[in-house]
Amino acid sequence: MKLRQRIVLTLVGITVILAIPAAYGLLALRGLHDITDRLSEQRVVTGTLGDLRNAVETARDAQRRYAVLAPLADPALGGNPRDTVQTRVQADSAVREATRTLELLRTQNDGAYAGASLPVVRTWSEITAGIRRERTLLEAGQRDSAEAVRRALEQQFGAMDPQLDEVDRAIANQTGRDLEQAESVASRAASTTLVALALALAATLIIGTLLTRTLLRPIALLRRGMASVAEGDFDPHVHIPRERPDELGDLARSFGTMTSQLRELDRLKAEFVSVASHEIKTPLSVIRGYVTLLADGIYGEVNDQQKKTLEAVSTQTDRLTRLVHRLLDVSRFEAGGARLELREIQLRAFFEELTGDFRVLAVQNGIHFPVSLSDDLPPTLVGDEDRLNEVLGNLLSNAFKFTPKEGTIRVEAARCDGGVQVEVEDTGVGIPADKLPHVFEKFYQVDNDAQPRSVGSGLGLAIAREIVEAHGGTIGAESEVGRGTRFRVFLPERPPAAGHA
Ligand code: ATP
Ligand code: MG
Repeated sequence: MKLRQRIVLTLVGITVILAIPAAYGLLALRGLHDITDRLSEQRVVTGTLGDLRNAVETARDAQRRYAVLAPLADPALGGNPRDTVQTRVQADSAVREATRTLELLRTQNDGAYAGASLPVVRTWSEITAGIRRERTLLEAGQRDSAEAVRRALEQQFGAMDPQLDEVDRAIANQTGRDLEQAESVASRAASTTLVALALALAATLIIGTLLTRTLLRPIALLRRGMASVAEGDFDPHVHIPRERPDELGDLARSFGTMTSQLRELDRLKAEFVSVASHEIKTPLSVIRGYVTLLADGIYGEVNDQQKKTLEAVSTQTDRLTRLVHRLLDVSRFEAGGARLELREIQLRAFFEELTGDFRVLAVQNGIHFPVSLSDDLPPTLVGDEDRLNEVLGNLLSNAFKFTPKEGTIRVEAARCDGGVQVEVEDTGVGIPADKLPHVFEKFYQVDNDAQPRSVGSGLGLAIAREIVEAHGGTIGAESEVGRGTRFRVFLPERPPAAGHA
């Protein structure tokens, strides 16, 4: 799967995971909303119930008054027919109002307390029937019967109150239950949403971390590989599966192709250097030979001017020959084709000869040149004498190159854990810390104010390291600018490949 698809899928996944608690929270809110709707309905019903109480009370009073006034309606009896009619109209209207309010209560009241209002409806229909009967009797002048109905009516009105109280209680109970339910829904929603949110966040974190790791790990590996290539290692081990189907797999494949091409180029370059150096070597020795013949006067007398010129040609030819030899050495070592001529080296004689060559130079430059061979120095060591001479010769020639007059160059050799350790220390210009790691690279020369680019090819230490490592040894350097440099070479008593003769 391509990276873009993977990122989009991950984002969709995270959105879905976060949407679950949000959806749950919304559902819980809807539940709460229904409950609050019910609670406000209950408030309205309670209001209507209050209105009903008042209307029933008004109807009761009006009917009572009418019952008192009706027998006195006759003017002969001292009554006022208008008052009677008016009272009757008031009573009628009060009864209608109560009936209407009761109807309203019934339409609003289809909830859990519907049952509680049934007795009220029944009693009210008995009351209205009673009122009708009382009026008929009153208007027919049957006072006694009307009186009996009146008593029954009072009892029915009296029964209404507790029945209305019962409805009130039913509403209050339902309100209490709804409040409890609202409380439990709210607290359950809060805790469930919190847990769901925590789980969603954890899942998001895990998914995010996994995605980041699948992206960042190969990028870090590639970055390390690139850094190795930049430092000259064209065969870095980058463990990104090349068959990965995404863009990182493409990158890994391109990186692999790039490094193999770089390796091929490097091989071609070494091959070219080796072939070219080899081809240059022969004409150079021919030139050197003819120059010597000319200088020796074999082809006739040479004057002083010509002699000087021939000497210059000869010096430059020697320099060129040395450079070609060194180039050949480097390319042979790099190709693994250099062979060591191993034999037993008498160490004291070896150091005697090596340092003897430099003593004259030391005297000429006024340099203090102590050589100390410790008493425990092994008498012999198996190695390629010429090559080791080249290594230490280069260290010494560097030391002489970079140590001013009156300085000190010290050579120390001692036994060391299965071999010999040689130190060449000088009090010369020193090497800056940021340059020190590069001095063993091919063609590298420090170039700064304290040490302008010196005469030389910058190959001496590169070859020295190859030679020492081919002997199974190590070479390192410490330095401080302005105070001096110390090279330390460790050589095992015999190279690992030499076996135990
Ligand atoms: P070549 O040895 O090939 O003739 P070179 O001496 O310049 O040339 P290396 O011996 O490889 O090359 O040394 C590399 C560089 O390290 C030198 O050019 C110099 O800048 C620095 N260097 C080596 N030895 C010392 C030293 N003792 N003191 C200060 N700088 C040194
Ligand atoms: Mg050198």
